[in-house]
Amino acid sequence: MTVPTETTARTTILVVEDEDPIRRFLRTTLDARGYRVTEAATLAAARIAVTARPPELMLLDLGLPDGAGLGLLREVRGWSRLPIVVLSARGQEDSKVQALDAGADDYLTKPFGVPELLARLRAALRRGASKAADEAPTIVVAAADGHGLRLDLQSRRCQKVSPGGAVDVALTPTEYRLLVELARHRGKVLTHTQLLRAVWGPRHDGDVAYLRVYLGQLRQKLEPVPARPRWLLTEPGTGYRFEAGPDPGRGD
Ligand code: CA
Repeated sequence: MTVPTETTARTTILVVEDEDPIRRFLRTTLDARGYRVTEAATLAAARIAVTARPPELMLLDLGLPDGAGLGLLREVRGWSRLPIVVLSARGQEDSKVQALDAGADDYLTKPFGVPELLARLRAALRRGASKAADEAPTIVVAAADGHGLRLDLQSRRCQKVSPGGAVDVALTPTEYRLLVELARHRGKVLTHTQLLRAVWGPRHDGDVAYLRVYLGQLRQKLEPVPARPRWLLTEPGTGYRFEAGPDPGRGD
């Protein structure tokens, strides 16, 4: 199975970072991969850059000299679904979670390596380019080894796919809502708060135990090896991610 090469030429990434060495490293790295890089070292410059000519993706440092990146993130989310990947320092777990709750697509914890940086950017850009797929009636995940999932949003039918064929899986209404919420944002980290609000409503922000129970049930029903999940991944201390897999289908 071949994975199509992604075209990255001319894709503009706005790098908002006040530390010169990190900004230079990002520019050099992304430039070498064919991305067009624009830069901002302050919140004020970033606000101008993102509104004057919106990039395809914004890499946003949370700690900037003239204010918090979180404020800009909320502003931009007010008018754009542009993919935003947040750069957070080690130990800033709270701000990372706040950023995801405010609508960031993903985060990178400094220091990060080039492969992780590129993989997270590719995933965020893919989602940005295929937002229409969010509304596609069928969500398909297919791995190269023949395992996968098929989720039909119109008939509410869920199938577990294995090399031997596809079998229908009966899900409870809550399991189904949780799976759809994760699958619609596949590849993206959803925080505990986001998932609890989406599935159980705003009064259940603190009921993280619900999530553990229901994620456990979904893994038992859907994962080839429930103890080593491939689709329903835990982001420790943060939330959960529905992994897109190496070769995501696009539905019909
Ligand atoms: Ca900083």
